[in-house]
Amino acid sequence: MTYDLRTLLNRAVDHAVDYRASLNDHAGRPDHGYAEMRDRLLEPVPEQGAAPLDVLEELVRRSQGGLMPITGPRFFGWVMGASHPAGVAADWLVSAWGQNAGYHTPTPAAAAMEEVAERWLLDILDLPRQSSIGFTTGATVAGAVGLAAARTRVLLDAGWDPDADGLFGAPPVHVLIGDDAHSSMFSALQLIGFGYRRLIRVATDGQGRMSVAALDAALRGLSGPKIVIAQAGQINTGAYDRFEDIIPIAHAAGAWVHVDGAFGLWARATPALKHLTTGIEAADSWVTDGHKWLQVPYDSGFAIVRDREAHQRAMTQWASYLPTISPTDRVPSAFVPELSRRARGTPVWAMLKTLGRQGVAELVERHCALTKRMAERLSAEPGINLRNEVTINQLIVDFGAGDAATRKALTEAVIAGVQAGGVCFAGGAAWHGDWVMRISVTSGATTEADIDLSADAIIAAWRAVRG
Ligand SMILES: *Cc1c(COP(=O)(O)O)cnc(C)c1O
Repeated sequence: MTYDLRTLLNRAVDHAVDYRASLNDHAGRPDHGYAEMRDRLLEPVPEQGAAPLDVLEELVRRSQGGLMPITGPRFFGWVMGASHPAGVAADWLVSAWGQNAGYHTPTPAAAAMEEVAERWLLDILDLPRQSSIGFTTGATVAGAVGLAAARTRVLLDAGWDPDADGLFGAPPVHVLIGDDAHSSMFSALQLIGFGYRRLIRVATDGQGRMSVAALDAALRGLSGPKIVIAQAGQINTGAYDRFEDIIPIAHAAGAWVHVDGAFGLWARATPALKHLTTGIEAADSWVTDGHKWLQVPYDSGFAIVRDREAHQRAMTQWASYLPTISPTDRVPSAFVPELSRRARGTPVWAMLKTLGRQGVAELVERHCALTKRMAERLSAEPGINLRNEVTINQLIVDFGAGDAATRKALTEAVIAGVQAGGVCFAGGAAWHGDWVMRISVTSGATTEADIDLSADAIIAAWRAVRG
């Protein structure tokens, strides 16, 4: 099977550029749904191979109409970054260079770049500089990593070694979590053996912030090891827990504090919004994503742990065939569950180098301003109800008047109308007994004009539903 490498890779470049150029006109949902794409792709195992260039052409042809324009300028569904071209280019080289970045000695460039990215992240996010960062696939896995470090530390302090002896027979660990925590925290807890039903759920306010008084009351009755899970950026409202109050209370009770800041932690990157996170630096572990606000291509998440020793203890593996580790070495695999893996630090390095501290701050501020603009446009229309305090890049609205069921039906109809219209993409979610339209402004490509076009489309869809 002969092929010309340059021709093959250049063809991938051409397809990528053509695709990105098409997104201004195709910013809505894909033309074909999953069932249709599956039918189109399903076939028996190919018995014979094919030329790589033909496979590439077929891959592109068969994917057509089934791609969600997440990298486009008017994708507001969920909190998803737009895979910035600088990150994509770096990521292509990660694949082309094929560095297995689990260890530092065999792949020195990749490991060094990851270590530099670790330092830059701690600096930009202004978190304790001695912290270690595990470069994971996303915030869900990063959450499991941070909580595993927490588990190691709080149980060691209670005289039990969970890494050696597991959880059977261990002293029970009390895990306290806000009622509006992200779904991924529950799966992370399940993964590390804590069980999502064995949690103490703490009441929240109308924006999803953990009640300080309820946390205080819940902690008072507890003895033994404890973990408190706080949140920077609620998935629907963008609300921040009151870290200044929560963390001292939790620490006074001897708890480890873990913060889910999958997108919200990036408020720390700009002086204009840093106040939202005041006190957060006192926590013990934090999670954020590279593939959301920072625009790193998927997959990119960060598990940030103040207690480097607990972090490594919870993750490290060693075998005789692996290079020996000196205590001062930073081994990439010592902070994540995987051994073999791609050089995840490289696209992060490239994005931070591309944006710089100022560029990150501008990106975050711009998205918050764009979200406010959208909120103003929508709430000026009769019958569109703003449902959150818009502080960062999250906006929720519902439509019409009357009881929850009536508004839900109207809201679902507007969401369907917006998605069918193809100008922009927004989805729905349950919020405190209601069904809302969610708008997350997280794409590096979004401009004011895109917000105005999208607001017009949403208002038009609402008028059509209202009749
Ligand atoms: C997206 C998100 C997560 C999960 O992150 P993944 O990268 O998708 O695994 C966790 N918490 C919050 C608040 C999120 O927005």
